[in-house]
Amino acid sequence: MQRDDIMEIRLENVNKTFKNGKRVVEALKNINIKINDGEFFGVLGPSGAGKTTLMRVIAGLETPTTGSVYFDNNVVARDNKNIVDVEDRNIGMVFQTWGLYPHLSVYDNIAFPLRVKRWSEDEIKKRIYEITDILNIRNTINLKPGQISGGQQQRVALCRALVKNPTILILDEPFSNLDAVIKDSARELAREIHNRDTITTLIVSHDPADIFSLADRAAVINHGVMEQLAEPLEIYDNPKSLDISKLIGDINTFEVEIENDNDTPFFDLNGTKIEAPGYPAGRAIIGIRPEDIKILDNDDKGYKNIGEATVRVSSYASGQFKITLSFVNSDIQFSINSEIPYKTGKNVPIGIRENKIKFFDINTGAALK
Ligand code: ATP
Repeated sequence: MQRDDIMEIRLENVNKTFKNGKRVVEALKNINIKINDGEFFGVLGPSGAGKTTLMRVIAGLETPTTGSVYFDNNVVARDNKNIVDVEDRNIGMVFQTWGLYPHLSVYDNIAFPLRVKRWSEDEIKKRIYEITDILNIRNTINLKPGQISGGQQQRVALCRALVKNPTILILDEPFSNLDAVIKDSARELAREIHNRDTITTLIVSHDPADIFSLADRAAVINHGVMEQLAEPLEIYDNPKSLDISKLIGDINTFEVEIENDNDTPFFDLNGTKIEAPGYPAGRAIIGIRPEDIKILDNDDKGYKNIGEATVRVSSYASGQFKITLSFVNSDIQFSINSEIPYKTGKNVPIGIRENKIKFFDINTGAALK
């Protein structure tokens, strides 16, 4: 069920520059985004891209150098001025480091924002019991953060962010300090929290798994510029650039020469002619996702045989084998996922899904076509 106080967030022509001594850093360049009320919105980008700055501008911890931020139709910041201050924006935030006070108990950590708001101790107690029940850490409230597990600390940080019933929840790399198994349950918890009240929720992450499992839509930020905004699967299938294709998942890339001297353009991959319908002649980079390239066996419908490759490394992670291979007659390497392991040094036939190949400009990395 959606609460009726949940807000839409709109950024209009937002720029943010920092002065680092003599150097001017343009952390955000002309950002325009509308995040719908109740949306789970992902922000993806490499280190230094401007993701945290974007969150801080929305939260009111930074002002946009130029441009405006709106919550519903109310302007909350404009041209280097906060019109609504951070305390009055009713935002819950969880950062990568969680920022728990180590000398305070779990109870006092969670109580902190309520005490700032001068709630009575009775009201605080009632609310803390309620929220720690929901997040299943009621039994830790008398302990200090150092006495509980990473997963529990993360729940404490979430409790503290949620205790005021925020209308917007900002999660900035909240899971990066968790190991893989706890990460999965942390994601589930974030999803549950969102489903409970449908709070407009923003998650910043460099881990595509977070974006895929949580975000309705995601923005890709690179060098302060919003380069793509779409549903995660759309970004995965149709990335606007080579950089984006790598940010949202694994991809094998090969440099090829597209020739256009007959009806359909084509290129050569390991001695096999592959069609490149509609693509311009010249050098290009092609990208193939691991699931679109496989070691051929009996179930090969839709895959085109592109010759043999030698198994170089076979490793195991998250339920599947990752196999690195190189073509038999070259040292061009690529990786695939496999249900079964393969022995190093073995030669195996390789197939690709031709219609899933992505094409990028060799100089700019922009998606072709
Ligand atoms: P990461 O994933 O590494 O946290 P990010 O995408 O969150 O990176 P930001 O922290 O938003 O990136 O930083 C964007 C750019 O702005 C960087 O070049 C950073 O050095 C710069 N920057 C951020 N905050 C400040 C500040 N307070 N003063 C000066 N420069 C800053």
